[in-house]
Amino acid sequence: MSNMTIKIALDGPSGSGKSTMAKLLAKELGYVYIDTGALYRTIGLYVYEKGLSSEDKEGIIALLPEIHITMRLIDGAGVIFLNGRQIGDEIRTPVISKYASDVSKIPEVRAFLLDLQRNIAKENNVIMDGRDIGTVILPDAQVKIFMTADNETRARRRYNELIAKGQNVKYEDVLADMIWRDKNDRERDIAPAVPAKDAIIYDNSNHSIEENLEMLKKIIKEKIG
Ligand code: C5P
Repeated sequence: MSNMTIKIALDGPSGSGKSTMAKLLAKELGYVYIDTGALYRTIGLYVYEKGLSSEDKEGIIALLPEIHITMRLIDGAGVIFLNGRQIGDEIRTPVISKYASDVSKIPEVRAFLLDLQRNIAKENNVIMDGRDIGTVILPDAQVKIFMTADNETRARRRYNELIAKGQNVKYEDVLADMIWRDKNDRERDIAPAVPAKDAIIYDNSNHSIEENLEMLKKIIKEKIG
């Protein structure tokens, strides 16, 4: 049954342009866009609001039974509800980025979010952006792309995004946080942020959004026609 839907896995480190591309592609193809990082950020937010350290593994696991996360499809994208509360930009801050990265190393947290992600892909054609979509969540995805870009390009993009959201951040801090988080994500024991063996690796450092979009469309077309 699950093979009846089309699944596109778009993985890669922060600032690689995944979410921008996934949103544009989802619109063009008429697929549902799922930002899986937002799920880890939502758990990070809950843990943070409860006043726990992001490294308090046992404490975080003990909180899971009181966390109810659902996703509703609104305008072709998954919108997250945390215990009934709609989640927005409050998860897009540097502190919640760190919390997300730390909670995502806990196997119980990853297991907690697994079915939610897989079920959406069973029922809809999806483009999912994340770190382990091609390796763990949707190993049978018809298209797997791992996007990267050099550190400065990615930090600059992240910095511009945060500034556009009105956050008061310094480029140097954004770069340092990003390097820390990538290492934390890449070197973890469970579902590390590395390309699937059958993923196409695409470095988009020196390309415009338009060029990236064309390139990705070409890759997708070659795979699914
Ligand atoms: O993509 P984004 O930067 O919003 O993700 C926030 C964090 O969530 C990542 O740094 C990573 O630790 C975690 N994550 C993950 N697996 C995913 C998506 C995100 O572990 N599929």
